[in-house]
Amino acid sequence: MSYVDEAIERVIRENPGEPEFHQAVKEVLESLRPVIEANEEKYKRDALLERLVNPERQIKFRVPWVDDKGNAQINTGYRVQFNSAIGPYKGGIRLHPSVNIGIIKFLGFEQIFKNSLTGLPIGGGKGGSDFDPKGKSDREVMAFCQSFMTELVKYIGPNADVPAGDIGTGAREIGYMFGQYKRIRGLFEGVLTGKGLSYGGSLARTEATGYGLLYITEEMLKSNGIDINGKTAVVSGSGNVAIYAIEKAHQLGAKVLTASDSTGWVYDPDGIDVEALKEIKEVNRARLTEYKKYRPKSEYHEGKGVWQIKADIALPCATQNELGLEDAKTLVSNGVIAVAEGANMPTTEEATKYLQENGVLFVPGKAANAGGVATSALEMSQNSERTSWSLEEVDQKLKEIMVNIFHNIDDAAKRYGFDGNYVVGANIAGFEKVVNAMDAQGIV
Ligand code: GLU
Repeated sequence: MSYVDEAIERVIRENPGEPEFHQAVKEVLESLRPVIEANEEKYKRDALLERLVNPERQIKFRVPWVDDKGNAQINTGYRVQFNSAIGPYKGGIRLHPSVNIGIIKFLGFEQIFKNSLTGLPIGGGKGGSDFDPKGKSDREVMAFCQSFMTELVKYIGPNADVPAGDIGTGAREIGYMFGQYKRIRGLFEGVLTGKGLSYGGSLARTEATGYGLLYITEEMLKSNGIDINGKTAVVSGSGNVAIYAIEKAHQLGAKVLTASDSTGWVYDPDGIDVEALKEIKEVNRARLTEYKKYRPKSEYHEGKGVWQIKADIALPCATQNELGLEDAKTLVSNGVIAVAEGANMPTTEEATKYLQENGVLFVPGKAANAGGVATSALEMSQNSERTSWSLEEVDQKLKEIMVNIFHNIDDAAKRYGFDGNYVVGANIAGFEKVVNAMDAQGIV
């Protein structure tokens, strides 16, 4: 059995009940096959793959808080510090009822390669809790965030581990967590990113993941001789990634026809009204059923369905495994040209394969959504320098980073004879820097 197959088998055996983690590891290690096979003896002797797939540290803790009725509530908190070969652990905090250790490990594992692809010095980590901020009062969210940070504070720091937002964790939650960190440690420092602009946040961080997704999509299309201007797109999600992906898509001359949330989706033939979406989601924290009030000609549907709308580009920006094989078949039969992942691992293994086999340009999340964490790293730099850069400066850097990522993954794919396979290219390019650093630092 090859070293890659042995390593995959061992991950499945030793991490039972964690299908998303198995899926992420399989996808990465399968793509790395040509690189691993070229150095099999050395990597095996150094247990390189075992070290890559085992987090350096994983922390699990109790998060007690009191709800508005005076009842005590208990959630579980996690922080997985996966790999620090190229920099301090960096990655978001997901607050969602679906969170468990397997989800956080899959996200942390992906983060290693994503962060490496940014070209910036950040290692991979991820955290979260099964707490659901939806439907909670501000006071309850604050109580949870303070309790979560009271424990997390022991493990993080600006040169050790720098958490940020993810699903369920936005500016409000980061603010409460930062306040609690500062109160306990007595230090005003860049320990979290995605902070508010008045206390050390970076301009363009809010927009960065969505904008970055469009910058890389534009570059990929351009290098394949296609102009994004005038194209139609379907987007899933209506959170931070989706909103700013839609905004930038419109700025680039594309028209986005859909958005979705956990209960339904909207189809707007005239193009999604971003300002309406911002008001519904960012200000009112309401459901997409509200959208029709702003745009009477739009349609609202319960359940899932954005992938059935005919469009040139599909941008899954909601959550993992939201685009399956049947969706991929529908997209292909509707003539989709490109799929770029705004969320982490939103496309299933079979769907990804089907899209690639049918000539769809496909850029995986670890490259396509890296603009968020890249701008977090820019926030860290500004905090260390005690300065803040202009919107234009940050946006320009973000654009350069995304264009570079595209060319790096394109080149890596070509070098190994997988021309146009950006999944393989992203995994190899992300891996090369990490393995080089791991190698140089000995068996640690
Ligand atoms: N949660 C985001 C991601 O998946 C951002 C992480 C960060 O900014 O540290 O990459």
